[in-house]
Amino acid sequence: MQQADLIWMNGQLIPWDDAKVHVLTHGLHYGTSVFEGVRCYDTEIGPAVFRHAEHVDRLFRSAELYYMPIPFTREQLRDATNATIAGNNLRSCYIRPLVFRGYGQMGLFPLDAPVDVMIACWEWGAYLGEAGKREGIRAKISSWRRISPQSLIPQAKAGGQYLNSVLAKIEIQKAGYEEAILLDEHGNVCEGSGENIFVVRDGRIATPPLTASILNGISRDSAMTIAKDLGFEIEVRDITRAELYLADEVFMTGTAAELVPVREIDDHAVGTGRPGEVTLAIQKVFEDALHGRDPRYRDWLDPVPVS
Ligand code: PMP
Repeated sequence: MQQADLIWMNGQLIPWDDAKVHVLTHGLHYGTSVFEGVRCYDTEIGPAVFRHAEHVDRLFRSAELYYMPIPFTREQLRDATNATIAGNNLRSCYIRPLVFRGYGQMGLFPLDAPVDVMIACWEWGAYLGEAGKREGIRAKISSWRRISPQSLIPQAKAGGQYLNSVLAKIEIQKAGYEEAILLDEHGNVCEGSGENIFVVRDGRIATPPLTASILNGISRDSAMTIAKDLGFEIEVRDITRAELYLADEVFMTGTAAELVPVREIDDHAVGTGRPGEVTLAIQKVFEDALHGRDPRYRDWLDPVPVS
């Protein structure tokens, strides 16, 4: 990890190495935390956070679902993120806001424990690699099922829930693949360990619905908007495992990974085994949107005030 200088913690910027917690922090024991993954890009209008308001909204929604009152307003956290980016002299970075039950109360009832907030940012290249973005990645369906909405809240971005993604990621990386695809308990395709998924067949795009056990991905939403603007039809519906094998193209979207073609699933080549033209067309506009090169999507950028 590329260390930066400062981390924002509970209202102030402090040196990176001083941003510490007690070992009896509640969230460390029981996973009582919610977080975001956000990116800032060095765009034509200066450093700008991509879909900032949507990320802050999702953080507040995740926190609310786990009964965690955030002791700051949305505006304060947005300003704090901008101050962290500017304070670290970064023009493009990954941003990780985290809200967690802190130190002071043990046991499973968390509502008496303090709620702490931190925002860190650092330079971080494409999560699944530049080559992956260019040539596609090799994915494998995990034997772990995506968390059920009957046990947890798949639409929340909550710390403890990520043990599911961690198990899937370890399993498939040990087997020599780059990303996991998780199904639900009925066998429907859900998403990657940290990305949403799309399949393309005969020029039509499909992606699982928000009622599935998936995170409401902000990149998913951006890719869908772009695909529609390019004239593609998108079906939001359940997808079976076999459809992944039969697809002409498959791609994944996520803030860390951006838009990544999938070239192989369970040792079957997807289509020709190379990124397909629908994926590449959407990826090109998506990249332009992230970097502020497409005026149609300027509204998605929140400029960071820098001196
Ligand atoms: N699904 C999961 C499980 C994730 O962790 C992520 C990353 N936040 C996504 C999907 C993609 O969401 P987004 O595009 O908002 O980053």
